[in-house]
Amino acid sequence: MTRTNSKENGQYKGASTRSVHGGAPRDKGFHAMTTPIVQTATYTFDSTADVIKFLDKKVYGGELDREEYARYGNPSVWSIERRIAHLEGAEDAVVYPSGMSAVTSLFLTVLRPGTHIVMTDDCYRRTRQFCETTLKKFGIDTSVVPMGDSAALEAAIVPKKTRFIFTETPTNPYLRVADLHHLAELGVRHRAMTLLDTTFATPVNLRPLEFGIDFVMHSATKYFGGHNDVLAGAIAGGAGRIKALKDARGIMGNVIDPHQAFLVERGLKTLALRVRHQNESALDVARFLENHPKIDRVYYPGLPSHPDHELARAQMRGFGGVISFEVAGDIKTTSDFIDRLRIPYIAPSLGGTESLIEQPAYFSYYDLSSEERLAVGIKDNLVRFALGIEDAEDIIEDLERSLEQVPARSAVGQV
Ligand SMILES: *Cc1c(COP(=O)(O)O)cnc(C)c1O
Repeated sequence: MTRTNSKENGQYKGASTRSVHGGAPRDKGFHAMTTPIVQTATYTFDSTADVIKFLDKKVYGGELDREEYARYGNPSVWSIERRIAHLEGAEDAVVYPSGMSAVTSLFLTVLRPGTHIVMTDDCYRRTRQFCETTLKKFGIDTSVVPMGDSAALEAAIVPKKTRFIFTETPTNPYLRVADLHHLAELGVRHRAMTLLDTTFATPVNLRPLEFGIDFVMHSATKYFGGHNDVLAGAIAGGAGRIKALKDARGIMGNVIDPHQAFLVERGLKTLALRVRHQNESALDVARFLENHPKIDRVYYPGLPSHPDHELARAQMRGFGGVISFEVAGDIKTTSDFIDRLRIPYIAPSLGGTESLIEQPAYFSYYDLSSEERLAVGIKDNLVRFALGIEDAEDIIEDLERSLEQVPARSAVGQV
């Protein structure tokens, strides 16, 4: 088995063919169908002459087709890196033991004291925390601008200081969609790198590099792994920049375990199958919810009522498997509604085979008061439903049954 692309399968038109074969060598070693898990901390050399041959290649350039130590590489790791690069249409990709590890490694590797990041507010909370606390300590500033306000985004850019423009699309929990043409253009004009977290979209629905975005990142814990059983993260982009990240990973030591990588590889093969199913069932469920009298509001980019519907239609091949909505009632009515459901598990995360449901007021924002939550845009009656691969008709029946028991709003104080 080699880490080079020489025996790799070809370029495919369809996302499902790409998911199964793209970026994978035909010969995975030992005549195995799957990439063998090479559970080793180090690699052996037959002789000192072999060591010298390896070092000559490493030091003076040339194709590296073996490893010396597991912090620098493992077949399961190369394999998913190639596959993810292929899915994103990127020159290369680098994987990490979690999504947070991916984003923190990128920023720590690329940014210097005195630089600046512009990011949008409807973002993964831990990413924002990392920028505003850890990066701050290293003299790196962050400006957070409202998602969807392109004037504010451009105004926040500090000439010669802003190195990164970062957003997610679709965002969590309101599924806002970023205008990628505009972001890429801003990046070029202001000489800032653009980074998109498209964990919610997956390359089945959106390939940001096609729009001229510099880096795309994923929490591979979600759709890539796809079975709620592994943590992982990935970044795809240009070969030179990804090589710098791989070199830094070899020093910082944030490497993914081969068994973890194996689980991601298995998940990737069914990525398109799962995501297309989830696109369809989420649209059905979103339409059902929007027409239900016990639901105040639904946020799903596939619905014409979503503020970014047109943008999503223009940019994306599908609208994804996450829906947010507000139950007609207070924090308790909402949690009771959730507790009565039989199909979704109450859990954070998304993108796996099992549907997961959460009330952001409790999960990510429990430490804030109701008013503080509202100030950051999180209503008490907001629910995030991340569809698994169950059938839409069963999910709808489950929701319907629980919604029937949501009490009608009392006439007092409610109009
Ligand atoms: C889950 C998630 C992350 C963090 O990824 P981990 O794999 O949990 O570290 C980052 N961004 C988004 C959009 C996520 O959903």
